[in-house]
This record gives sequence, structure tokens and C-alpha cells, in this order.
Amino acid sequence: SYSIDRSIRNWDQKRKQWLKHHPNFAGSTDTRVLIVTGSQPGVCRHPSGDHLQLRLFKNKVDYARIHGHEIFYNNALLHPKMTGFWAKYPLVKSAMLAHPEAEWVWWVDSDAVFTDMEFKLPLEKYDNYNLVVHGWSHAVYDEKSWTGLNAGVFLIRNCQWSMELVEAWTRMGPQSPDYQKWGKTQKSLLKDKLYPESDDQAALIYLLLKENERWGKKIYLESEYNLEGYWLALVDKLNNITGRYMEIEQKVGDLRRRHAEKVSEYYGMVREEYLKDVVRRPFVIHFTGCEPCTGDHNPTYTWEACWNGMQKALNFADNQVLRRFGFVHPDLLDSSLVSPLPFDFPLV
Ligand code: UDP
Ligand code: MN
Repeated sequence: SYSIDRSIRNWDQKRKQWLKHHPNFAGSTDTRVLIVTGSQPGVCRHPSGDHLQLRLFKNKVDYARIHGHEIFYNNALLHPKMTGFWAKYPLVKSAMLAHPEAEWVWWVDSDAVFTDMEFKLPLEKYDNYNLVVHGWSHAVYDEKSWTGLNAGVFLIRNCQWSMELVEAWTRMGPQSPDYQKWGKTQKSLLKDKLYPESDDQAALIYLLLKENERWGKKIYLESEYNLEGYWLALVDKLNNITGRYMEIEQKVGDLRRRHAEKVSEYYGMVREEYLKDVVRRPFVIHFTGCEPCTGDHNPTYTWEACWNGMQKALNFADNQVLRRFGFVHPDLLDSSLVSPLPFDFPLV
């Protein structure tokens, strides 16, 4: 049974057996990544919630298409008690079982946006690991901070170890008779944990701190790039580079016809600026605490800040997609407006 209450045994052997009977997958399995994401079963309470969910999903579909990853979107609760962020664990478990051909399952929260459409996961780096999350070891191990890692985006290897990790992880979930107790344990371990109920992020940190010999050496805390990054620190840095080129383009106006060499000079500058911007752009921006579906955002920021941040990130990402189609959002805050790019616009 795929149910979260049942243990999976010998998955490595079963998976190997399956792959033997499906030789069409041979050779490419160790780099095969299945993106898994999802959202709540019902209508969003905030009037803009479902619109945001659609745009957030479109962004993931774009990234998946560009990189040849399969993507699975789920909005059913696979365990009736595992709601909210806990919903992803029965789903990740089922996805590993349903897709033996995938070496990695890549969970991406619905409120996370790919803002670098060209960046590829450095999978070779994770050869000796089974779980990759964004985090910092000093913040986890020395500071024992609740935000020492973020559970909104993670890569989990499709193997028996991962089945057992999910089991240990979800032992602290709302379907467990010890749920209340785990909340207290986590809160006393992680002083900066915001709320008293047991949560998945605290649960993972608990496993790293308290059961390190069992799990620690297979868990990689990634901090070299934004596997996910906190939106408040990142959205203001998004530079509408393509929009600025459009301004140049407009300024150049009819000059482009009469002084063709001037235009290519401008485009040279454009390309240079673009290349500089590419190295600076964050990979994934996570709108944690914004709660786009319910609108019950963290009271330390406004809905408007969340909304504007999401528009900026989504249009910034969409510009990287649309430019191939010959269009651009010149204003990152105005999703409805697009301008055509000139035929000779440099795509780098
Ligand atoms: N989620 C889901 N089904 C649900 C509710 C939530 O799959 O019924 C997923 C959704 O992708 C969401 C994630 O769980 O992004 C984690 O919740 P949220 O992003 O609200 O938590 P935060 O990142 O703000 O702490
Ligand atoms: Mn989230």
C-alpha cells in the first residue's frame, strides 16, 4: 500500500527490478528528476488566490519544459489529517513509488518561483547524498535556528533511505498520536520557532540535531545558490534588464533604421549587461509566509508587498520565457502589458 501509515521495505531492490523490466529508461535514470508540487483541494479564500496559483504553476511548467523534467501537480489530500505543508510528504512518498524511473523527486512549494530559467541543478555534487535542502550548518547545528534550513524546496533521492526518512519525518506529523508532544519538543529545541504546533521544517532540523548519526551524512545543506531564497531579501534586487533594453530600443527609435551601426553598439551594451545580470539572478524565490491562497499572510508584512513581490518575480521569470517568443513585460509590476521585441533583439 502507498499509504503513509505503511512502511516500505526493500525499495532499492524492487526499484532495480522494475528498471530491469523497463530497459527503455536504462542509462538516463541517475539524472532523471520529477518535479512534484501541489496545492489545497478547495477554492482559494483570497479572491486573487487561484489566479496566483495558476501563475505560480505556469512558472514551474515553463522551467520543467525548458529542462526536460516531468512535473506532477497534486491537489488531493493523500492523508486526511496531513493538511497544509504536511500534505507534501505522503505525496512525495507516492511519487517515488509511482515513478521508479525517476532518480530524484524535487518538491517545490506552490509559493516558490523559478527566477532563473536557465539554471540547472548541479546533480553531480549530490552523488553521495539523498536529501538536498537549502540551509546553513552553523545556523542548524550551532544556533539551533528554526530558519537554519527551509523545507519549501528539496531534492530527495528515490531510494529506501528516503522512504525511511519520510517515515521518521512524518512521525512528528498531525496524523501521529504524538503530534502535540512533538510540538512542545520542537519548540524547546528551536527557540525561534514561531508557532507551537509541530511542523515539517522543525521536524527535519530535529532529525539532524537528535538523530544525526542515522541521517546526517546523507543530507546536504545547500547554500552556494538559492535552491530557494527568502522573498523579502530578493525581490527588490530583480532587475528588469529586458525592460531597460526596451527603453533603449524606444529611445533609439527611427535611429535604428538610419544608423544601423549605432543600434548594434547599443545591443552590444545590452548583451553585456544581460550577461552580468544572469550571474546575479536568484534561482528560486520562495514567498514563504505570504499565503497567496488564503491571504492569511504573516502580519509582519502587507498583502501588497507579497502581491507586488510575486508580480515582480513571476514577470521577471516570464520575461526569460517570452523573449524567445518575441515579447517582453516592460514593467515587472504590470502583468497585462507586453511589448514586442525587435527581430534583431539579441537573445544572448
Ligand atoms: N500544500 C499542498 N496541499 C495543501 C496545502 C499545501 O500541497 O493542501 C503545499 C503547497 O505547495 C504549499 C506547501 O504545501 O506551498 C507549503 O505550505 P506553505 O507554502 O503555505 O508554507 P510556507 O512556505 O509559507 O511556510
Ligand atoms: Mn512555501
